[in-house]
Amino acid sequence: MQSEPQAFDRVLSSMCTEPHPVARDAAERFLATNPGDPGTYPSVSTLEEEAIAMLGSIAGLEEPAGYIASGGTEANIQAVRIARDRAESRRPNVVMPESAHFSFQKAADILGVELRIVPTDDDFRADLEAVRASVDEATALVIGVAGTTEYGRVDPIPELGEIARSVDAMLHVDAAWGGFVLPFTDYDWNFDHAAVDTMAIDPHKMGQAAVPAGGLLARSEELLDELAVDTPYLESTSQATLTGTRSGAGVASAAAAMEELWPEGYKRQYVRSQNNAEWLADALEKRGYEVVDPTLPLVAADVPRSTFDALRAKGWRISRTATDELRVVCMPHVTREMLASFIGDLDRLEVR
Ligand code: PLP
Repeated sequence: MQSEPQAFDRVLSSMCTEPHPVARDAAERFLATNPGDPGTYPSVSTLEEEAIAMLGSIAGLEEPAGYIASGGTEANIQAVRIARDRAESRRPNVVMPESAHFSFQKAADILGVELRIVPTDDDFRADLEAVRASVDEATALVIGVAGTTEYGRVDPIPELGEIARSVDAMLHVDAAWGGFVLPFTDYDWNFDHAAVDTMAIDPHKMGQAAVPAGGLLARSEELLDELAVDTPYLESTSQATLTGTRSGAGVASAAAAMEELWPEGYKRQYVRSQNNAEWLADALEKRGYEVVDPTLPLVAADVPRSTFDALRAKGWRISRTATDELRVVCMPHVTREMLASFIGDLDRLEVR
């Protein structure tokens, strides 16, 4: 039996989106390739080099090292692995704000590092005093988030870099979601702005590539080499990725999307998404809800659970934050018409 493909017309909570047509087309063409075996599949390997070069331009890194990962989770795990393997301490620790993605819990568990979770400030950004108080000579990595999953906040990345350097630790920036919108804002978030060592930046989120296409960037090949293992049965000699066989579809679609959209297409999309987020925040505020100011295209509001459940029953795919607010991510497939229809449903619920 054939199932219907995913329709996006009521999806308001996902951090993935409908791939751009050129990304969809590239994914189909490269479906049967494996960039994990570059000796056998050289053309997709070339596309991966192009994709990393473009990710480098987006993230302010002239000579980037990195690869197209399965997603932000893999990129984050690998960044923690690089830091752990470079650390001198036998029991290294990693310091991150409570707003960081749960993939770091997986990383800490797999890699045996101690995770030190520090609070965020009144604006949901890493509390610098708390970070300062948590680092010590066993700190291998400080993590900053550039576009948090719940509120779209950007941590003070340059300051986190200084704190990391003060204890000889590395700095990883998780821009898995934010990386394709931040170039069009005034935030200091990338390799150009701060002492960033590694970064997660995902084409399959705001980059409009097909899943799976995450991005791991490292400031130098030397850092990426920490991950390399020998590959005796392949024509190439070593592999830095976490997975072996990988999706050529993800790699090719990432390259195609960035080729098509960087920078102008992404800029237009950022403006559209940000305007939509502000429109939605305003509409919710006018109806008496408390709204977290959408500094990036992500809106959180204190809509009660019963209303939330009724909206879900109407087919809206929405989610809640850890503190129980409604959360809407204004991804490229989210149009003003969709948001107006969502608010229309909310109004109809309220009059009953
Ligand atoms: N980092 C951030 C900031 C995210 O928002 C997410 C997912 O939403 C991830 C990492 C994990 O990405 P993935 O689900 O592609 O592994």
